[in-house]
Amino acid sequence: MEYKFATKAIHAGQKSDPTTGAVMTPIYQTSTYQQAAPGDHKGYEYSRGTNPTRKALEDCLAALENGKHALAFASGMAATETVLKLLRPGDEVITGDDLYGGSYRIFTKVFAHYGIKFHFVNTSEPAAVQEKINANTRLIWVETPTNPTLKLADIEAIGRIAKTAGVLFAVDNTFASPYLQNPLDLGADIVMHSVTKYIGGHSDVVMGALVMNDKALYDDLFFYYNACGGTPGPQDAFLVLRGIKTLHLRMKAHCENGRQVAEFLRKHPRIEQVYWPGFEDHPGHAVAKKQMRDFGGMVSVVLKDASLAETFRIAGSFKVFTLAESLGGVESLINHPATMTHGSIPKEARERVGVVDSLIRISVGVEDITDLLADLEQALA
Ligand SMILES: *Cc1c(COP(=O)(O)O)cnc(C)c1O
Repeated sequence: MEYKFATKAIHAGQKSDPTTGAVMTPIYQTSTYQQAAPGDHKGYEYSRGTNPTRKALEDCLAALENGKHALAFASGMAATETVLKLLRPGDEVITGDDLYGGSYRIFTKVFAHYGIKFHFVNTSEPAAVQEKINANTRLIWVETPTNPTLKLADIEAIGRIAKTAGVLFAVDNTFASPYLQNPLDLGADIVMHSVTKYIGGHSDVVMGALVMNDKALYDDLFFYYNACGGTPGPQDAFLVLRGIKTLHLRMKAHCENGRQVAEFLRKHPRIEQVYWPGFEDHPGHAVAKKQMRDFGGMVSVVLKDASLAETFRIAGSFKVFTLAESLGGVESLINHPATMTHGSIPKEARERVGVVDSLIRISVGVEDITDLLADLEQALA
């Protein structure tokens, strides 16, 4: 029987411990496993490859993304890196021009050195992706909604392009979380998550994940996983399993608070522009409505006529919101992309996609909305 999201979040992959009956998955703090005879083991040999706590988490993540297989990594970047290891010199990748800064960095400053070519296009336009397809294209890597300007890519449309071209299609689903969007159902081959964000949800773990359906693809990725060793520890797997149990409750609250913050800011005289896909005049609104269940808790704003100094002053004057990198935790965060999360992207490249000096990104948490709006009001005053 296929259970609903909330039931899967609480139970998928997590059976009571067979030896003690412990209801919560134990932290199997072990690197190795006894074998009855050489090669005769219970499915676990060495924890770089497999660990029971991590396996419970991977099965849960697979269930939440409607996938068959998942791998948990020491970080989102370790997950991304493992997908890129499927490529060979001469291969080409088509990706977005408005990406998480660390993704841009690993593409241009790490894998470009191994002879892989990256094309950065506006993934809001499926035709822009189509245009770059050639015989060397091996991977399409899309983030939606994008970080930080919340542009939408039509996963189904790009999935059709990828399928026709016989190209692997990966979606970074970090901003949406599996509660809001399931790319595998829409034609993606791989879903990538920075588990650090909404899935973990409490800003206390750095972790990444890949989810897929195809067994051969899983085997290829597992080969690099085990060969290279970007493995997370069992304590972190336990913490994420605990966080996931409230993912659906947290996401509902993030979406509701996000909506109220976006609407409040849109009416505020100090604000030039609000990026939030729930607005009917957001260019990606129709795509967001089609492929997401709600609009999420990320809101970005451009301050009106604000210098860098003025932007810094406002960013530093919040009392409930915390000025910090990252997103997706229960607490509200303020981030200045140009100098923080997107500092590794050259100024011209980031300004072309709207990451200007007066842009502030807000990860709306699940505190009481009255306190959040009052804090925004006093910081902007
Ligand atoms: C944070 C983030 C990553 C990187 O994940 P880490 O867990 O920090 O390594 C990748 N993509 C997006 C959209 C992110 O926000």
